[in-house]
Amino acid sequence: MKAQLLLLLELQNIDSSVQELRAKINSLPEKLTPAKNDLAKLEAILQEEKDRLAETESWRKELESIIQTEEEAIKKAKAKVQSAKSSKDYSAANRELENKRKSKSEREDDLLKMMEAIEKSRAEMESHDKDIKALREHLTAEEESIRAEIAVLEPKAEKRAAGRDEVLNQIQPGLLKRYNHIMKKRAYALAPVVDGVCRGCHMQVPPQLNNILARLDSIETCPRCYRMLYRQDILEDAGE
Ligand SMILES: [Zn+2]
Repeated sequence: MKAQLLLLLELQNIDSSVQELRAKINSLPEKLTPAKNDLAKLEAILQEEKDRLAETESWRKELESIIQTEEEAIKKAKAKVQSAKSSKDYSAANRELENKRKSKSEREDDLLKMMEAIEKSRAEMESHDKDIKALREHLTAEEESIRAEIAVLEPKAEKRAAGRDEVLNQIQPGLLKRYNHIMKKRAYALAPVVDGVCRGCHMQVPPQLNNILARLDSIETCPRCYRMLYRQDILEDAGE
């Protein structure tokens, strides 16, 4: 039974290291999720800024054309002042001209403010664009290094799994069935008993069971966690 036990332990070793490698391979791409989320957020912000800028630019054009119209009106008002026949007409025309000049100057102030805002948002966009480029570069480099890491791990997992069938074919069908049954529920199917305690569930096994295990005649089951048990000390002694 010792040979069977050793085969089962080998199978367990293979299964657990393949599982570990597979879990690592699967978890590697997930490392990039936070950076990818950050990139998406930054891209959304930049898009909003672009939309807002386009809107401001169209307001600016509108304002410029209004100012143009007002310049025409000022010219007309000036002509009216010059052609005033009476002092009453003259002062009325002059008032009108002053009002138009004031209105135009206010609009010019607005335009100046708008142009400053445009300048500022262009600078912000440039800085966000830079951040996005840097993040993209970082992500590309990370993806490459993850691909390289996976390229090393994949063949490792395959190589480890390759010997599985050979081990499996030497195990008695009944034991294999027990092994597979436990593996459906547990991360590992065999547990050592050390100082009378099952290492799978930390329960003290009955002394009688502990003695049966010492004989290496059969493979017993832990009454609590149902794992297949073996005595680490006996196995080590027998191995020497
Ligand atoms: Zn147990």
